[in-house]
Amino acid sequence: MFRVVHGDITRFKAEAIVNAANKYLEHGGGVAYAIAKAASGDVSEYIRISKEEMRKQIGRDWIEHGEVVVTPPLNLAKNGVKYVIHTVGPYCGGKWDEDKRKKLELAILGALKKADELGVRSIAFPAISAGIYGCPLEEVVKTFKLVVNEFLKSAKNVTDVYLVLYSERDYEVALKVLERDE
Ligand code: ADP
Repeated sequence: MFRVVHGDITRFKAEAIVNAANKYLEHGGGVAYAIAKAASGDVSEYIRISKEEMRKQIGRDWIEHGEVVVTPPLNLAKNGVKYVIHTVGPYCGGKWDEDKRKKLELAILGALKKADELGVRSIAFPAISAGIYGCPLEEVVKTFKLVVNEFLKSAKNVTDVYLVLYSERDYEVALKVLERDE
């Protein structure tokens, strides 16, 4: 099941939550900062943990689209969160094309596959790339819809996927996109 919901991902109850990170896992603003703050209280400490895990899991100091890093939930364990999965979406700056769509697909799919591998049943995403990275929200939601529905056909563990929209207006837009049959 794929559902759009209105809310704050740092309060959302799911076994995994996804962070719309940058490639260096700096968590300087937007949802990344909010997750770092909620998980650890100390954003610099959370960045340190993320970078250490990136070194261990990827062997580099940056991630490509489709690569993900997993960090422990820390304080988010109170919401039932077991893992935070960091993924990086494309930078759009208001433009949209096939290359950006492909990169976003990789970013979403990378997190879904990792969650499935970890045995997670429920996973919540923010609208990756639709904030500071400036990708059009409608295109982002359409991409989520296609990738998630395709993924769910062969998932072993993941059954519930949520796209959490922070603003009421974004939520309304996302609902409309989901209701369309295309
Ligand atoms: P990006 O750089 O990938 O665009 P942003 O963090 O700027 O990432 O924004 C991604 C989306 O996350 C935006 O739609 C933004 O409104 C939303 N967002 C910001 N804070 C939260 C939050 N606490 N919970 C859910 N979504 C959030």
